Amino acid sequence: QHPVPTDIQVSQQIVQQVGLLPLSDLAQQLGLTPDEIIPWGIAKAKIPLSVRDTRRAVPNGNYVVVTGINPTPLGEGKSTTTIGLAQALGAVRGRPTVACIRQPSQGPTFGIKGGAAGGGYAQVVPMEEFNLHLTGDIHAVTAANNLLAAAIDTRIFHEDAQSDQALFRRLCPPNKPFSPVMQRRLRKLGIDPHKAPADLTPAEQSKFARLDIDPDTITWQRVLDTCDRHLRVVQVGIGPNEKVTPRSDDPGQPAKPRVQHDRVTGFDITVASEVMAVLALARSLPDLRDKLGAMVVAYSRAGEPVTADDLGCGGALAVLMKDAILPTLMQTVERTPVLVHAGPFANIATGNSSVVADEMALKMVGPDGYCVTEAGFGADIGMEKFFNIKCRASGLKPKCAVIVATVRALKMHGGGPPVSAGKPLQPEYVQENVELVRRGAANLARHVENAKKFGVNVVVAVNQFQTDTPAEIEAVRQAALEAGAYDAVLANHWAEGGQGAADLAIAVEKACADNDEANFRFLYDVNLSIEEKVNVIAKEIYRADGVDFSNTARAQMEKYEASGFGNLPICIAKTQYSFSCDPSAKGAPTGFRVPVREIRSCVGAGFLYPICGDIMTIPGLPTRPGFYDVDIDENGGVVGLF
Ligand code: ADP
Repeated sequence: QHPVPTDIQVSQQIVQQVGLLPLSDLAQQLGLTPDEIIPWGIAKAKIPLSVRDTRRAVPNGNYVVVTGINPTPLGEGKSTTTIGLAQALGAVRGRPTVACIRQPSQGPTFGIKGGAAGGGYAQVVPMEEFNLHLTGDIHAVTAANNLLAAAIDTRIFHEDAQSDQALFRRLCPPNKPFSPVMQRRLRKLGIDPHKAPADLTPAEQSKFARLDIDPDTITWQRVLDTCDRHLRVVQVGIGPNEKVTPRSDDPGQPAKPRVQHDRVTGFDITVASEVMAVLALARSLPDLRDKLGAMVVAYSRAGEPVTADDLGCGGALAVLMKDAILPTLMQTVERTPVLVHAGPFANIATGNSSVVADEMALKMVGPDGYCVTEAGFGADIGMEKFFNIKCRASGLKPKCAVIVATVRALKMHGGGPPVSAGKPLQPEYVQENVELVRRGAANLARHVENAKKFGVNVVVAVNQFQTDTPAEIEAVRQAALEAGAYDAVLANHWAEGGQGAADLAIAVEKACADNDEANFRFLYDVNLSIEEKVNVIAKEIYRADGVDFSNTARAQMEKYEASGFGNLPICIAKTQYSFSCDPSAKGAPTGFRVPVREIRSCVGAGFLYPICGDIMTIPGLPTRPGFYDVDIDENGGVVGLF
């Protein structure tokens, strides 16, 4: 239909006029038996991990990652292209295909970002179900994260109020054996976990019971899935009942002074929680359990890392997350299967959907099929983390990277003026200007060269906007091919659905057939020092002259290496708008350095994240947030989502 209606209108028209493919048919199309799907209403189904495990002998399909140039406010359409390519491979070319994408956070959906189901005639339907609660995974992450936050503050409170022996008696009553999570801590402390509580020596009891958390080292925040900027910094524990008087073991002694438990902490948006990062990288339920338990939340006064398992709640966190580890099956407007799963932040985390969804998709499609998975932000961040962190965690080997570019975004990289929301676009963006495109294509060219360092074939997808001219499109194609792209193809799936991306699908098929997954390689060895690993990414991907570590960052590197975390891969948190750390440096900047202010850790998820620049972990709402347009109509339908 022309002009293309809004995303939600397209979604609702398709659902009403064409209808959804029944879940049982969708499952059948994927070769699943009826007991291999867990319907969640009529549009969504959870898929058990046994689907992957029972197909262990089936060779994997072709693994394709969709990424993009550095984002601009003009939009590039990575999700739209992921879905459009999957529709073209599946519905048009008849190849077994599954798209894998992240679940969007509800916070930005009501704020400024809009949805993430794709757009136009290349989207996941029903988009309102996709963009809102889905199957509750994000809520599960919130619940798990906040249980752990409560466990930390409460533990400090109880430790301050009691002697070691009293603490031990309450934690481990003599008539109850140690629980499995307690046995984990005993093992870590080198104490026989099969002993009865009463058999521990007083020294062992003290060691077990007192974590002695240094409140100044707590890194664990509370989370919620709303852009509530006033919770960025909060003070907790100010109620009178949160002050404790330490009990004296000797009744003759004078009372000890009361201990205050107020401290300054803050909230992050749920998708910034390490629990979400764990969900995205876990391989199985036992692995999820171990990773959740291994999350380091603080250090003791003696400098030992304190984990969720030390606090006794790793098992409870896994129980809260047990359904969330199952990917959710949905479909596109052309009935292509889509697995929606996880949605970690792309700066402080990996910005990629889950390992298990990709593994499952590759088994379901089999050797002749395609798993098209999306990596967030630009290729310097999302793709680099996809290869170096996600593929390292999974062992999967991609064959092809699709880099999405638009003519107008490249014009901005070439020096086009800044745009402001709500104002009409400047003439540079709506009239032909081949020179601007050519200059901006330096950004695309560098991403193409970078992707090739990993041994994949690179296909550039020019996501077509109505104002693009043939000469401008040709300029992008030429720049991509000169930079070493395997192919560069115009795609018009937003307006035409899968048919509009048929050429892109053919190029991707050829790029996969023409590459051997054995060619895939990582950029760095995890056994290099932390400093060396950061340097490799900064120089090879961003093309920086070097990295400047603050004294804080150097002290942290020493601490991590001493704690045994030095061999984790690196997940750099920096602006997505530039190769450099300056968001205004468009195109392909050179002659800059990367400042690392501090380095934080996600030990459970399995990476260290250097902070380069200001990173926002809970967005605010603008004066006119997206929620102004959202409502329920007279038929009970959702209107105005986008
Ligand atoms: P990204 O994944 O890069 O953030 P999306 O795929 O989510 O971008 O697209 C952002 C928005 O841009 C969506 O609302 C989508 O409908 C719109 N969009 C994408 N491609 C086009 C296009 N070719 N023409 C017009 N609008 C588009």
